Amino acid sequence: VAKGRSIGVAGYDPLDDVNTIERLALLGDLRRALSNDELYLVYQPKISLTDGALGSVEALLRWKHPERGLVPPDAFIPLAENTGLIGHLTRHVLDLALAQSRAWMDAGTPLRIAVNTSARNLHDEEFDRTVRGLLTRHGVEPSMLLLEVTESALMADPVRARQLLQRLAAQGIAISIDDFGAGYTSIKQLRSLPITELKVDQSFVQAMEQDEGEELIVRSVIELGRNLGLTTVAEGVETPQALVKLASFGCDVAQGYVLARPMTAPDLDHWRSQWRGL
Ligand code: C2E
Ligand code: CA
Ligand code: CA
Ligand code: CA
Repeated sequence: VAKGRSIGVAGYDPLDDVNTIERLALLGDLRRALSNDELYLVYQPKISLTDGALGSVEALLRWKHPERGLVPPDAFIPLAENTGLIGHLTRHVLDLALAQSRAWMDAGTPLRIAVNTSARNLHDEEFDRTVRGLLTRHGVEPSMLLLEVTESALMADPVRARQLLQRLAAQGIAISIDDFGAGYTSIKQLRSLPITELKVDQSFVQAMEQDEGEELIVRSVIELGRNLGLTTVAEGVETPQALVKLASFGCDVAQGYVLARPMTAPDLDHWRSQWRGL
């Protein structure tokens, strides 16, 4: 098997057999990684476009593989999703995030953390209990946790997903819809969900600068979110021009390389101490 080949390729690939072997190997490694210290979180600031304040951070998973180096989440999360492993993985991520949340609280610098979930988590009847157990174990208030749920994950089984989200929201956990805009969630469905935040899919945010059609999508999603009383977030913001545009559209929060990259907790602490707002 050639070293350095990309993994997690979508679509037909004549080397699919090789990929299958690679995937199996990677999956075995991932199981091991869960019990070692190979998985860690980086945190990306979500910044208010109104006052430049750091409102919260999104936790993003990183895997430092002993031989392959840094494996991107897009290469191993789908793998975990297609097997039973995603339950353990999300639990592990929540455990790391809530330990960090606790550490920030103890340091007198509390910060809200957003954690990504997968479709499978939303079909797990125990998931709300798992989350509650971890909050209790770490002594973290539910309001300090926000769960990001992708629009596509919701669409997979809207009724079941809604029931689970309602149980989570009833505990005081905030729910955000991630990657919004590419799916076909109706306004009616949106209104029936216990959500507080809408994140515009970053593909639109990035295409916005070259294409007026994409810009219209971004504007429409922001307007929809505002009309529903939700906090609107634009992610993947890479230029100052895009920031200005988004603010003029009434977008509440921005996230992207132009503001800050995802950072380890110590780097984030340093960044926070230097951050003077927009
Ligand atoms: P996502 O949830 O949509 O996360 C946003 C992705 O955009 C992250 O990629 C982030 O590093 C990247 N990003 C942030 N700002 C910019 C920017 O200005 N420009 C560009 N081009 N990209 C930007 P990352 O960390 O590689 O994660 C990719 C995806 O993997 C995430 O997309 C999410 O779907 C998944 N993921 C990451 N961590 C977790 C996790 O702990 N659990 C689950 N279930 N999924 C995760
Ligand atoms: Ca996300
Ligand atoms: Ca996203
Ligand atoms: Ca995504």
